[in-house]
Amino acid sequence: MNNEQKIVTRFAPSPTGFLHIGGIRTALYAWAYAKKHNGTFILRIEDTDKAREVEGSIEHIIESLKWIGIDWNEGPDIGGPNAPYKQSERLESYIKYANILIEKGYAYADPYTEEEVEIYRQKAIEEKRPFLYRDHRKEITPVWDGTQSLRFKVKDIKSYEWNDLVRGKLSAGQEALDDFILIKSDGYPTYNFAHIIDDFEMGVTHVMRGDEFISSTPKFLSVYEALGIKRPEYATLPPIMGTDGKKKLGKRDGAKDFLEYKKEGYLPNAMMNFLAFIGWNPGIEKEILTPEEFIELFEISQIQISGGGYNEDKLDWINKEHIKLLKESELEKYIFEWLPKELQNKKIIPLITERISKFGDIKNMVEGGELDFFYKEPACQNDKLIYKNTDKDTIISNLTKTLEIIEKTNESDFTTQNIKIFLMEFADSLENRGQVLHPVRYALSGLEKSPDPFIIADILGKNETIKRLNKAISSLSS
Ligand code: GLU
Repeated sequence: MNNEQKIVTRFAPSPTGFLHIGGIRTALYAWAYAKKHNGTFILRIEDTDKAREVEGSIEHIIESLKWIGIDWNEGPDIGGPNAPYKQSERLESYIKYANILIEKGYAYADPYTEEEVEIYRQKAIEEKRPFLYRDHRKEITPVWDGTQSLRFKVKDIKSYEWNDLVRGKLSAGQEALDDFILIKSDGYPTYNFAHIIDDFEMGVTHVMRGDEFISSTPKFLSVYEALGIKRPEYATLPPIMGTDGKKKLGKRDGAKDFLEYKKEGYLPNAMMNFLAFIGWNPGIEKEILTPEEFIELFEISQIQISGGGYNEDKLDWINKEHIKLLKESELEKYIFEWLPKELQNKKIIPLITERISKFGDIKNMVEGGELDFFYKEPACQNDKLIYKNTDKDTIISNLTKTLEIIEKTNESDFTTQNIKIFLMEFADSLENRGQVLHPVRYALSGLEKSPDPFIIADILGKNETIKRLNKAISSLSS
């Protein structure tokens, strides 16, 4: 590769349903590589398997990529110099190259029906030998009129050796080569053929994709040779393994629709950070990266060969760290999105932030959850107001003194900071701070473990704080 060559990468999903993290990670690496080198990143939709197509997938794919922050220079929604970007709209190109292959004697119209091929296949199974289509070629084949499938004719039956930027030297024996379908009888090309033509026409320089394509690589190479065109570099990405680290991530281990993470309240930058590290290791200590830092660091040579494991605890930790990187206004916006109107109070933000790893956790904290006492006056049990073996009268007296302090505080001075100063002054004069902090906490929240009572008082406001303290005092005095 010469230094001046412009890097062109692509993400080429098939619209067969939602994207899960495996697909997004492939897109991420290809995108990062193009970004880093001021190259071009293309989104191409590989929609030639009409039977497997799921309606709405393209929009879903686009939404998923946009959410995580992956953008493209060319694609079906924005066009570009190599338009169109949907394979179903590029049929003319495939036919053009198919005709070149026919002329060169590298392609022929399939003379058999599917049933006939099936008979040969069964026979091979019975005789315990591999089925090879090329063993059944006919001397004379019909003229290709577009209604039969078109097969590639492997002329050079040989072993292949090629270089993969991640895996190094790879090779395959002659058995990996057979006459495969280039264009199906429905007129659509196969993946094996279409992606080669597209990558060539779009000037793709680097192909990053999963290891499931390694076994077909000899086929791809034989088409490149037959057409006399240069292939892009290949970088095979490691699979994402399930939590057990043993098998590929499956639906049961969390291979869910990528947009579910958005619904669960993860941050897109945290998702990017998390995915970046599944299968790539820059060899540094730092684990929290912004998108810009990731792009800057990214090198294909640091992509790993073996699969990285999916670990949701790690994701939660990364997300929590990214929450800390948010600007105050962004944090407020995210948190308020998840909070009911009554609790949309700036003061509650730190209290929530320290308790969540993703914004969806807020759902369990509000009504009926940990923060329920902000909505409704908690129940008050006398025995719970008592701190260790302090006598009841001391608790009553401490709560009464607290009440006086609160009553004396001006509305305008009623802040977490001031309440803390005033109450701590009193608490420190006691034998044990708990003799006042515990009953105040319980009186205000109905919880023995709760956020700091000063912030609770501040959020509840002066009137509600007085009301709850009074209630505790009269309950203890009765
Ligand atoms: N359409 C293929 C898929 O979704 C893309 C493979 C490739 O990137 O070449 O698996």
